[in-house]
Amino acid sequence: MYYILSMSILKNKDDLFKKISFLKGVGPKLSKYLKNKKIEKINDLLWHFPYSSTDRTNMTTLDKLEVGKIQTIKVKVIKYNFPRLRNLPNKVICEDEYGKIDIIFFNSREGYIKAILPINNWVLISGKINFYKNKYQITNPSYITSIDKIDYVKKIIPKYSLTDGLNEKSYRKIIEKVINNLPNVEEWHDEDVLKKFGFSSWHESLLKIHNFDNDDQVNNKYIRRLALDEILSNLIVLSKHRKKFKESIKKNKLFNSLLSKKILKNLSFRLTQNQENVINEINKDLRSDKKMFRILQGDVGSGKTIVAFLTSANVLEFGCQSALMAPTSILAKQHYILAKKIFDGTKIRIELLTGKTENKLKKEILKDLKNGQIDLLIGTHALFQKKIEFKNLGFIIIDEQHKFGVKQRMSLAEKGGKNCDVLLMSATPIPRTMMLTFYGDMDVSRITEKPKNRLPILTYSKPEKKINELIKIIEKSLSQNNQVFWVCPLINESQILDYSSVKKRFDWLKKRFPDEVSILHGELKQDEKDLILEKFLKKKTKILVSTTVIEVGIDFPDANLIIIENANKFGLAQLHQLRGRVGRGQIQGKCILVFKDNLSKNSIQRIKILKKSSDGFFIAEEDMKMRGFGDIIGYQQSGEKFFKIADPINHEDLFIFAENYLKKIENENLDKFDFLVKLHDRAEIIYSKND
Ligand code: ADP
Ligand code: MG
Repeated sequence: MYYILSMSILKNKDDLFKKISFLKGVGPKLSKYLKNKKIEKINDLLWHFPYSSTDRTNMTTLDKLEVGKIQTIKVKVIKYNFPRLRNLPNKVICEDEYGKIDIIFFNSREGYIKAILPINNWVLISGKINFYKNKYQITNPSYITSIDKIDYVKKIIPKYSLTDGLNEKSYRKIIEKVINNLPNVEEWHDEDVLKKFGFSSWHESLLKIHNFDNDDQVNNKYIRRLALDEILSNLIVLSKHRKKFKESIKKNKLFNSLLSKKILKNLSFRLTQNQENVINEINKDLRSDKKMFRILQGDVGSGKTIVAFLTSANVLEFGCQSALMAPTSILAKQHYILAKKIFDGTKIRIELLTGKTENKLKKEILKDLKNGQIDLLIGTHALFQKKIEFKNLGFIIIDEQHKFGVKQRMSLAEKGGKNCDVLLMSATPIPRTMMLTFYGDMDVSRITEKPKNRLPILTYSKPEKKINELIKIIEKSLSQNNQVFWVCPLINESQILDYSSVKKRFDWLKKRFPDEVSILHGELKQDEKDLILEKFLKKKTKILVSTTVIEVGIDFPDANLIIIENANKFGLAQLHQLRGRVGRGQIQGKCILVFKDNLSKNSIQRIKILKKSSDGFFIAEEDMKMRGFGDIIGYQQSGEKFFKIADPINHEDLFIFAENYLKKIENENLDKFDFLVKLHDRAEIIYSKND
């Protein structure tokens, strides 16, 4: 019985979703190492492609050896040389008709060597060729076999990137076992799709990729096939989720916008056309009997917060409660202060709830929330703890949603029950071509214009060797009562990376501005971070040296200069977001990008784009063209890698094709894709517990 099991380990295709330790020979220790590589289920092994290969097909005679290369030779064993001294290796001398070679063994027993290299026998040996003291040698050969096994030695060996504790041979044993025992699956694509791209079956594609049959590990047709699979599975999941939302009927909200009109009258500015448009879109959703699941995209500083409050006002007027969630308590507090100001003179009761709220106050808030005396609750994810009950929550707004991954956002969408509308807000501009990929489950609203009074941030560049000049610029800035951000890519000095660290820069600045500088980075606890930001906000410190951890959403009205070191380390979109932290008030914002001396063409091009444009959407598109999609800032921050195989630059045609493909099949029965969706780990997203 056990024998049969180990012969056909993956009899059932669902075996692929079993833990890796299900495989014979994978114990707890190996499982742990594999987990470091994010390989937990058998399925995960499939997507961990080899990055290159070792070619052992190259059989060589001893007159044609090439030092440093891995070669396979056919030789006769002629003499043993076992020195019987510690630390000296055992040696076996071999020859063919053209020459001699030494085979060297460290840490191998004589008996073993004699067994695998019997004297006067012909053998096949494969390994890296060295030249030492005028002799060719192979040290610890990777393969030795008798000549009848020639096919086994002569092959291309795929190479995988591995972590400590995993060696190539044992890893290969595992992956070979899985690849050679892949379960039978029914094709999910129509024949004409396969034909159009020249694709092979799922099975064959995996086999070819893992045998490294093709040098081009991005664009060969086997990889492209799996990339299309992955793209499609993502679109299917989002589409199903969207359908589920559209099918659920809610109680529509009715209002005359009296409250929001009152607020508008008291604002010191007029809404932009874009703001008016998105408010109308949101109001329409609120009034409809379909639950809203909408994302509001707008560049930093485009004025999303006021949109959130004006639409909340309508929900409050109708008689439902609203909740606004921010990723950090400091941002939540800023929203709270602003809301108090905006709703001043109305009967709306607003409270703030974060992890820091005192217990006594918290209890009171919980009570009043439940009996409906609080209208608008602002806070962090503390808003969604189990014990928090609203009387009639009708609207949830989630700010800076890029901080939350896709799975989180979908679970947030379920919060608040079926009568509750959901609006997400994000400052991460997603290129238009990637919209459906990211937000295919949602309706999208966009703000693409900035308020008219806003001055575009001036962007300069400076070589690192002139860094001392920045001192004068900072001094001038401080004397005008402004504050300064100084951003570095690293926390600590690195031996390996030639980047600046916040700690080093902090010390350096402290010498010149002893009382003005503070330091912020991701190693600090949230409480410590909040304290430092609070101090900076209150202008107790004037210069903040930090990594990229500062929230994008926080308004520092007096911060008007940002200096970014090693600017080429950051993506364009990220630089744009960083500079968006300054110049939010009336004063001209300035951004100085500091570079190492030797700027590549690419870097120069990037500076040009930043200097020329302040349009986040345009910059995101350029960024994607130049650096690829892993850099779209938000998805880096949420720590979520969107695709394992697909690459929007190289596989752009597949993305475009998949969108149309989905539109065609969307209303058919999609059951045949169930396994595919599960393969790509998207299933748990849609089939959540609430189903
Ligand atoms: P974000 O979209 O990045 O969240 P905010 O909502 O924080 O931007 O708005 C940034 C600043 O712009 C705020 O000080 C806000 O009061 C102001 N603002 C918003 N809308 C307008 C407008 N139409 N005209 C002028 N200023 C505006
Ligand atoms: Mg904001």
